[in-house]
Amino acid sequence: STEPASDPAVCSIKVVCRIRPLNDAEERSGSQFILKNINEDSLNCGGKTFNFDKVFHPKTGQEKVYVETARQIVKDVLSGYNGTIFAYGQTSSGKTHTMEGVLDDGERMGIIPRIVTDIFQHILSMDEHLEFHIKVSYFEIYMDKIRDLLDVTKSNLVVHEDKNKVPYVKGVTERFVTSPEDVMEVIEEGKENRHVSVTNMNEHSSRSHSVFLIDVRQENLKTQKKLSGKLYLVDLAGSEKVSKTGAEGNTLDEAKNINKSLSALGNVIAALAEGTKSHVPYRDSKLTRILQESLGGNARTTIITCVSPASYNETETKTTLLFGQRAK
Ligand code: ADP
Ligand code: MG
Repeated sequence: STEPASDPAVCSIKVVCRIRPLNDAEERSGSQFILKNINEDSLNCGGKTFNFDKVFHPKTGQEKVYVETARQIVKDVLSGYNGTIFAYGQTSSGKTHTMEGVLDDGERMGIIPRIVTDIFQHILSMDEHLEFHIKVSYFEIYMDKIRDLLDVTKSNLVVHEDKNKVPYVKGVTERFVTSPEDVMEVIEEGKENRHVSVTNMNEHSSRSHSVFLIDVRQENLKTQKKLSGKLYLVDLAGSEKVSKTGAEGNTLDEAKNINKSLSALGNVIAALAEGTKSHVPYRDSKLTRILQESLGGNARTTIITCVSPASYNETETKTTLLFGQRAK
């Protein structure tokens, strides 16, 4: 049977930091590992100490990251809570490795495939009178446009509010799924669509947010009690500053757009972390509007800040650590 949902009274924003290893090119070029005093919940960068709920050193495996960042949220979503897990950091800091990893590799698979496996496993062990309906959506936000990754004809979806004033992406494809294999197929399909329509996937993924939504509805057939929970899994656009030199035309517009939506997210998280319920600026970006019901309030949120340990990334690493700190 499943463990109980976490206590709604405890702070529902968890901020962790994952440090990736130095890569071969960095090793070869003699880049230094600049992060110091790495503990369970803090690290030092450039003489400043940053505190987190958890710090993952470069050798930490995918399973441990899953257990510490997502496992509880899965239980909560199955108990009717909403949640969001997102990865923040500069390009090549490990966001996609963390969220997705290698889908068909038991050891290297990331948070999303592990969540999916876990959800179906939990359901098997739950009350037999519970009937579940699970559907998933997969879209990206690029230049403030929402593009459906499961139907390429839908390239500019809009955010609407339902009768309870809850925002949602109108018309986004929803796929009913009944097994982890179903979900993996949907993810592959979305990734394929994303690849086909862009010329340089690395550049594109560093400029767009990808959002995977798992919507779980359940009904107790004995008592007719219904519960629903939504879980948003977000691989954010790269947080690096695009240098002023060399950024022209589209690139500069893209950069401004990314900065705008990431700072809108930072502002929402900071307002929630301060506990100021009165004005949380959800409306400042499409991303924060979509996430409104799944960030703050009763929702569970985990922010995974991903950083490079290499000396040449020091500025971006510090910026990322500061983003995480603001959320604490
Ligand atoms: P991002 O999505 O932030 O741009 P990626 O997840 O694509 O970055 O990571 C860049 C590269 O570094 C990839 O080849 C990835 O496999 C590798 N990498 C990232 N994080 C880790 C890690 N914790 N352990 C091992 N390799 C990693
Ligand atoms: Mg990526």
